[in-house]
Amino acid sequence: MRELRSLKDLALVLEGLKDFDSPVEFLEQYRTPGDIAATLAWEAMLRGDLEGKVVIDLGCGTGVIAYGFLALGARQALCVDVDWRALGIARENLRTFEGFVELVAADVRYLHIAIPRDACTVAMNPPFGVKRRGADLEFLRVALGLCNTVYSIHKYVPRSMELLESTARSYGFRATPIARAWMTIKQRFKHHRRRVYRFEVELIRFVRERSEVR
Ligand code: SAH
Repeated sequence: MRELRSLKDLALVLEGLKDFDSPVEFLEQYRTPGDIAATLAWEAMLRGDLEGKVVIDLGCGTGVIAYGFLALGARQALCVDVDWRALGIARENLRTFEGFVELVAADVRYLHIAIPRDACTVAMNPPFGVKRRGADLEFLRVALGLCNTVYSIHKYVPRSMELLESTARSYGFRATPIARAWMTIKQRFKHHRRRVYRFEVELIRFVRERSEVR
């Protein structure tokens, strides 16, 4: 792997990784753009939430996010996706880190992982909840149940933060927005009328404040 000296270097490496072969629409399979995945990992590194941690990438898809975290010093990655074919691509993309990656084929809604909460950080770009309403919040609840720190990418719409914040609060977490970015998706699914679909996403850090769970 070439030396990563900047956020831009990392973004370029991530952007060059393999994309989904034939994305499944109802699973909302969009690859996280390199610059956004890189920012997520970079911010986690700066805040001490990455080094030596096990990163859990929920809905890992092509493994872009796990790659960013491993490249910056995460100890190990656990990549979970319900789609076998996506995990095949993640395996290819993550082969540089062989021995430090576990690929788990599972529906996150029925996932049980026994890991100390302070040894891990969840990093994810969950389905935006457009195809299956509430999928993003389902992912978030699972994430908050797993680790003390969660980095997540959500579709930004006015007031979307309120719902995320109140969900976080009910699990004893504080939600802090760390960056906002535009995400562009080329037309892949036939129902899209526009060739390019552009929307804003928010990168959010969730940190556990209270020790009791709801
Ligand atoms: N970060 C990924 C993109 C994630 S897109 C990348 O850059 O490739 C959302 C992912 O969540 C898809 O790969 C999809 O297969 C997965 N997914 C959707 N619903 C799921 C579920 N219930 N359990 C596990 N994975 C799911």
